[in-house]
Amino acid sequence: MKFLPPGYNTKELEQPAKNKWRWQWLSEVDSKGVKWSDWLQKIEVCGVAFCSLCGKTINYKSNGKKALKLHCEDANHQKNHRVVKTNTVLPGSSQASKQSESMLDRVAKQRAITASFLSEHCLPFTLAPELLEFAKRLSQDKQALDKTTISKTSATYINTHGVAKSLKEELKDKLKGQVLSLNCDEATNNNNDKILNVLIQYFDEETGKIEIAHLGSRKQNLATAANILKSLESILAEYAIEWTQVAADKPDLSRSQCLRPSTGSHHPSSAVTGEAAQVSHEQ
Ligand SMILES: [Zn+2]
Repeated sequence: MKFLPPGYNTKELEQPAKNKWRWQWLSEVDSKGVKWSDWLQKIEVCGVAFCSLCGKTINYKSNGKKALKLHCEDANHQKNHRVVKTNTVLPGSSQASKQSESMLDRVAKQRAITASFLSEHCLPFTLAPELLEFAKRLSQDKQALDKTTISKTSATYINTHGVAKSLKEELKDKLKGQVLSLNCDEATNNNNDKILNVLIQYFDEETGKIEIAHLGSRKQNLATAANILKSLESILAEYAIEWTQVAADKPDLSRSQCLRPSTGSHHPSSAVTGEAAQVSHEQ
């Protein structure tokens, strides 16, 4: 059964019928004030309409509008209308569609879409399982997903002001009392500024692995050992890391070696050799 959209030209279809279909019938109202458009639908059959409440076809060929009027005042039709009115439509029922493809085909299609997304965006193929998991998680709230938009700018904002802060807090918690290895390096950015980058390696109890994390970066144009140490200490302070937690440091600074202050006999392994200034804080 094919339903015709309101306003569809039925002239040719209705040619043989004595009483021809009129779209203005949809704006008629029954004795209870219910609009005909709530139940009446025109199908692609000459002289026949469809009642969606009763699931029945109505022949108006010979009696025209009168046949439709008779149908909607019928006790059975009224009963059906009451049932529909007093029942809530299940959420998502309108989105349910008939699937004619087999499950195998549908699964293959999802896999193809995922794989082509990775290629189109030059993403590593190792990301495939995570990407699929990500899609599943988002689609759990389909209604919200349909309304969600995200721009480049808002993604940056969310990351710097929301996610980054939470990640930092999380890392800070993980590092509490943990022994870690420090790795500093300097690099030059596009502005020709020298940047001190501080990485750490630590044992993550959650993953059971040694993980690498970026603690922070500082602009370090005046790269004296004292200045580097000051930057380094300010980064460590952000994570409440004590020097006693630093078991090893691997400075890789070309001109001035950066090192943690000597803490006496506790960490003899931390002696760092270098061509330039060494800093030591005597206890
Ligand atoms: Zn009906």
